[in-house]
Amino acid sequence: MTTEALTKTYNIDPFVQIAKNVDSGTFNFKDLFIGFEKLSAVQTIFGKKTDEVLSKLKVEVFPRKGFMGVSDEDGHIFASKYYLNEGDIWSVYLDAVHELVHVRQFFEGKNLFDPAFSYVDRPTEIEAYRLGVIEARRIGLSEQEIFDYLEVPWVTKAEHVKLANTCNVAMDQINISPHKSPKHGNIRKKKS
Ligand SMILES: [Zn+2]
Repeated sequence: MTTEALTKTYNIDPFVQIAKNVDSGTFNFKDLFIGFEKLSAVQTIFGKKTDEVLSKLKVEVFPRKGFMGVSDEDGHIFASKYYLNEGDIWSVYLDAVHELVHVRQFFEGKNLFDPAFSYVDRPTEIEAYRLGVIEARRIGLSEQEIFDYLEVPWVTKAEHVKLANTCNVAMDQINISPHKSPKHGNIRKKKS
């Protein structure tokens, strides 16, 4: 039986809601990602400024396949309409937390797309993924599910394993054999 993955519910706090059936356009972060300012993980990112930052933050929903990212021009979040509406809620949730780390990094003046580093070695990515992995565990993902979440189309298998190691995934619990994550098949130009 493999139905468990379809029916499994994660421990996402009841005060959190993520909008569905969103059309393309520009939205207030707090209108699409409700309750995120109450998450400890998010408060870890922004501290006392959490509510102030999230209240001003915009999300640009674009009408193409892809995922989420942060603009390196003004620090707003962008997100694929299809990913928001059709992606697994836990994946969208974890990506939102990940992107909020990049929002803070942007306002600190960090280069989110520093070409001196590969994706899995870039310090801004490592910080964002490490926080995401901790949050993934908190909402009940298994180590295997976390490992699969870290698989993205633009990194090699070796880079995927390296990223998982860097993020302290319990590799002794992982089956590394190729696994089709829901993210496969999507392509985007640039992701932070
Ligand atoms: Zn990132």
